[in-house]
Amino acid sequence: MTFDELGLSAPLLRAIEEKGYREPSPIQAAAIPAVLSGRDLMAAAQTGTGKTAGFTLPILELLHAKGVAHPHRIRALVLTPTRELAAQVAESIATYGAHLPFKSAVVFGGVKPNPQIAALRKGIDILVATPGRLLDLCQQGEVKFSDLDVLVLDEADRMLDMGFIHDIRRILKLLPQQRQNLMFSATFANEIRGLAKTIMNNPLEVSVSAPNTTAERVKQWVHPVDKIRKSALLRELVVKNDWQQVLVFSRTKHGANRLSEYLVKAGVNASAIHGNKSQGARTKALSEFKSGKIRVLVATDIAARGLDIAQLPQVVNFDLPNVPEDYVHRIGRTGRAGASGRAFSLVSADEIKQLNDIEQVIQRHITREYVDGFEPDHEVPASAPLRKPRTSGQGKPAGGRGRRDDKPAPTSRGRSTEGHNRPRQKKRTGNSTK
Ligand code: AMP
Repeated sequence: MTFDELGLSAPLLRAIEEKGYREPSPIQAAAIPAVLSGRDLMAAAQTGTGKTAGFTLPILELLHAKGVAHPHRIRALVLTPTRELAAQVAESIATYGAHLPFKSAVVFGGVKPNPQIAALRKGIDILVATPGRLLDLCQQGEVKFSDLDVLVLDEADRMLDMGFIHDIRRILKLLPQQRQNLMFSATFANEIRGLAKTIMNNPLEVSVSAPNTTAERVKQWVHPVDKIRKSALLRELVVKNDWQQVLVFSRTKHGANRLSEYLVKAGVNASAIHGNKSQGARTKALSEFKSGKIRVLVATDIAARGLDIAQLPQVVNFDLPNVPEDYVHRIGRTGRAGASGRAFSLVSADEIKQLNDIEQVIQRHITREYVDGFEPDHEVPASAPLRKPRTSGQGKPAGGRGRRDDKPAPTSRGRSTEGHNRPRQKKRTGNSTK
């Protein structure tokens, strides 16, 4: 399958070629013809599958094909859960639409509204927005949707998790009834289906399962360590293994700040990215991380969601998330696009519950590896045996929320780990070559 065969016109094919894509990803091959046919679409696809181009390309094509009766009136609206994702979608629209005359704008909170209002007043064809700021601007009369043709809900599951349901419903009331609806979500758990029912008109459902689940693609280790020594261990791992680019997850904003300050004092270039940071600071940290100026980016789960950092070689869980599915999202930041990545979790004895919940969700025990000089005084208890996963697909595993991985990872007791049930058997990794 080639992009030509999908019915995209020359200006888009040129942009795709310039971007260097050779063939459509599975979600693109499924979604592009569906969107071009005018149907509503529910697509189960995670970040990393190429889903953004899966809706951006056909939307641009539709606008192009329909011609410009009223140029620069909003004809497509993309709602995203986070500022970072909104910015990335807007970037994709600019890239793929480079040879088309359409204008787009992005609006999200955390920055001054005036430049966004100025962009809207100039007239735009495609608007990318997070729900809260969009509602503010609608209430101020700055946004008109009378010409809207297409609505996209991107990462719909995340929007519900983040409590945007009421904002979304308010926005829906402002849109014309006659429109095409596209919904992208990592899973279609019952809540999402409930929302979809109220929005969609006979939608086509497509689902792409990655060739391997995240948990299979990513090599994973647990480093048992006392809580108090985690920062020192992280520094040791970064320096000894000469990691040049590592994304570190912290459960709290405060913890993220403290850790990045510690690393900077210890001579490792680091920065923190979380919801309390200004948008400017977040953008700067991300671009410095991408350019290699910053070696360690410490992020909270929400700040990290949707970040498109190509082929991150490794991620570290400085602490384990309370919601086990977040672990799958975190390690999904590495080993993208078929490359194999590595994920290291620094786990202290008090995190055994989180570890058990995660191992239950990914259906495997993670290899425990002790780092020389960092063996814990407080041993991490043995992992619990794995229970069989629920097989409904929409089930609610250990953490009480639906799996976001697209299929249950196969049970792999055989490949499981020396940590399980025998935590005292230590494998050391003092001079690791990782
Ligand atoms: P997304 O899932 O939309 O966040 O995209 C993940 C990454 O895949 C982005 O860096 C895209 O630039 C890249 N990508 C999207 N479509 C293709 C394609 N057809 N071939 C190669 N890379 C792609």
